Amino acid sequence: MSRYRLLPTPAQQAVLRDHCGHARYIWNLAGEQHAHWRLGRKGVPGYLEQCRQLTQARAENPWLAAGSQTVQQQALRDFAQAMTAFFDPGHPARRPSWRKAGRDEGFRIVARGTQWDVRRVSRKAGQVWVPKAGWVRFRWSRAVPAGAKSYRVTLDRAGRWHVAFAVIPDPVPAPGNGQAVGIDRGVVVSAALSTGELLSAPVLTGRERIRLRRLQRTLARATRGSNRRGRVRHAIARLRARETDRRKDWAEKVSTDIARRFDVIRVEDLLITNMTRSARGTRGDPGRNVRAKAGLNRGILGSGWGLLVRRLKDKAPGRVEKVKPHYTSQRCSACGQVDRGSRESQAVFRCTACGFAGHADVNAAVNIAAGHAVTARGGDGITQPVNREPQLLLPSA
Ligand SMILES: [Zn+2]
Repeated sequence: MSRYRLLPTPAQQAVLRDHCGHARYIWNLAGEQHAHWRLGRKGVPGYLEQCRQLTQARAENPWLAAGSQTVQQQALRDFAQAMTAFFDPGHPARRPSWRKAGRDEGFRIVARGTQWDVRRVSRKAGQVWVPKAGWVRFRWSRAVPAGAKSYRVTLDRAGRWHVAFAVIPDPVPAPGNGQAVGIDRGVVVSAALSTGELLSAPVLTGRERIRLRRLQRTLARATRGSNRRGRVRHAIARLRARETDRRKDWAEKVSTDIARRFDVIRVEDLLITNMTRSARGTRGDPGRNVRAKAGLNRGILGSGWGLLVRRLKDKAPGRVEKVKPHYTSQRCSACGQVDRGSRESQAVFRCTACGFAGHADVNAAVNIAAGHAVTARGGDGITQPVNREPQLLLPSA
């Protein structure tokens, strides 16, 4: 995904806002139909049936009919695809959630050549064709990938428009050196390699963190609905967005580097979403160690681990192996003894049997590097199709 700052004129902004509103409305409508479905009832309307309903809805609602049919149909397709991913036992995704105004603003356009195109107009500016809005300028901060087939326009909470061209990164050729690397998603650092390298995803600088804390204090004191409150929220969102951008760049660079240096890349088979979900628990079964886990989860999410693994799979297709996570952090990488007591602290591993000592995350990474690929359930990341360009998939038609 290459993201660019979109610079629509005021008139174009109005069109884009309409597109966002329509896409959100359609998405939520499709979601409601699924939510009301119960076992034993007739099937949920499939994509084709929903398209028919969309035509009808457009005939009855002038405000919907005034919008772009391309945008609205794509929202339906996106929802259908999200449901398919949700029901996929191999790679389950989250249930498509309700989209909230002001928070989830965006729409997607596919079919380059017929629905859209992109062109460069100057050294620093490009233009992308958006239905009903025409050519919209964007900041040409880097070359648009030649293989881009679709794009998504988004409006973030800081009021910035972006266009992201969806492209599967080109696979990086394997070095052919027969080397395997293990990567541990660290808590102390973002990722530890079995080579001993410790990688840290960028965070806000000290000065930025101080500024963020000050803004958060101001926000707590500001009157609800006041102009000042709006300005402070805007500033906070901008700082957060800056951090996110840095993480994304980091994941791109690190994944390319690792894919270039090693033939086989081993990571733990861990569903990051499950880990982060488990902490809070439910009302009937409140999570244990909620505080400690919440801290750990913040670290995991903040480290950009999920994005890094996704990019590794894209760039080294068939070369990423998932290893069972059992005891990787308690096992001594020197003598193989498994003992909880060896994990001296978050950062230090000291074997109670042979005395080997080292960075705990690196020790785990070495165990992962020596691990065996998980073959059960087929979730080894090897058989996944390389091309994941969004496709029309019908969940219940
Ligand atoms: Zn040992």
